[in-house]
Amino acid sequence: MLTNGLLALAFIAVPAFAIPANAADPTVKCESGKLKEASKYGACRLKTEAKAVNKGAAANFSRCELKFADKWNKVESKAGPGVCPTEGDAVSIDDRITSDTDEIATLLAGGTVAPSGCVIPAVPVGTTPVATPAVCSDPPSPLEDAIAPAIAAAQAAADMTRAELLDPTVITVVTCGTGTPLPSDRAQACTAVFANGKFLLFDAGDGAQRSMENLDLPLDALTAVFLTHFHSDHIADVGEVMSRSWILGRTSTLPIYGSEPIERVVDGFNLIYGTDEVYRIAHHGEAIMPPDTLLAEAHEVIGADEDGVVVFSEDGVTVTAYGVDHSPVEPALGYRVDYAGKSVVISGDTIDTPGLQNASLGADVLVSEVMSYLLIETTECVLEDLGDTRNEGIFKDIRTYHIDVAALGAMAETAGVDTLVLTHMVPSLTGFLVDGFFTTPVSAAFSGTVLAAEDGDRVTIPLP
Ligand SMILES: [Zn+2]
Ligand SMILES: [Zn+2]
Repeated sequence: MLTNGLLALAFIAVPAFAIPANAADPTVKCESGKLKEASKYGACRLKTEAKAVNKGAAANFSRCELKFADKWNKVESKAGPGVCPTEGDAVSIDDRITSDTDEIATLLAGGTVAPSGCVIPAVPVGTTPVATPAVCSDPPSPLEDAIAPAIAAAQAAADMTRAELLDPTVITVVTCGTGTPLPSDRAQACTAVFANGKFLLFDAGDGAQRSMENLDLPLDALTAVFLTHFHSDHIADVGEVMSRSWILGRTSTLPIYGSEPIERVVDGFNLIYGTDEVYRIAHHGEAIMPPDTLLAEAHEVIGADEDGVVVFSEDGVTVTAYGVDHSPVEPALGYRVDYAGKSVVISGDTIDTPGLQNASLGADVLVSEVMSYLLIETTECVLEDLGDTRNEGIFKDIRTYHIDVAALGAMAETAGVDTLVLTHMVPSLTGFLVDGFFTTPVSAAFSGTVLAAEDGDRVTIPLP
């Protein structure tokens, strides 16, 4: 059991624990879980200490001790008796303490600490209040009268979209980003699933945030983000999602799920956007900009194999993560959302693989990446003819880690998918070419409905 003495040893925040390669071993898994709780405990201590230093008061760590002693003990009991006793833990934690002394120095210089334990250096913030003279006249000015209807109409439209998407009697999928790393007008990877009032976001590539705002998605109600893998076209806008959802009214901490090294990725975004949080709180005040809310909390998905592991479960809505094959990107995940007997699957980037097949079994909607091998292979040959060996090599490489149109259609047919939504189409095409190279060859092997998605398309699943 975790003692106060050991808690004291865990004083220093540990930004990110690497999960050992043999994470399936129960002892390794348990020790890893305890180290992560120790890391969060350290972060809690640092945050408490930072607040106390700012106020010139003595720090009281009892809240941290209570919270994390309980969590530590739960990890031990879940693993079973004797699987990972506390003896010996102090040594590894002590090593971390020694290596993190620089962070203490930063802290004492007035830094703050992200939920994940990352120290954010203090930034100078102006202390002069911004002058805000009264500007509204009574009666309203002619310009006020002129623009009022437009603002009211925009708000009414946003309210209507919110009501539709948060309607608990349907599941709604919004393809907020259907692009790839290749240039196009499409936002990069972004799929939003709304179920029982939850707003679950899968990936946030470049342009995802702007797309979601243009679509009036209710970002203040964003429940959680799930990352399939860390290619830039799936994570480039994560910081913007954190920041804008907070500015637009999100008041609870944002969990971000993903495989290892999710903690390092989230720490990085927290580090970058921590300064933005400081400025905006200083400007607007804590009542409008609740502190400690912009920054996100990493949730590492462990053990997601082809059979899947449940990573989220709230109010009847579950999200299961499946291991898919996007080698050499490992681990790469697909996700399945289940609610009230209906399901939505997000493929992530993958070839045809058991994880994708299992996730897709009986799915009402499968939102899948897809590639036209025909076009990519043909382009490869053209590049070879042109002597462009560098780009020829890239085209050769990318077709080994995406699923071909024919394979996707056949897989979805075998799995009994109802509606197949094509996204992340490689290459990104427009107009009749989409039908010719994607919809038609997929439909040749698949008897259900096929939608080659554009940014902003919606698919609604009525609940029984
Ligand atoms: Zn990828
Ligand atoms: Zn991708």
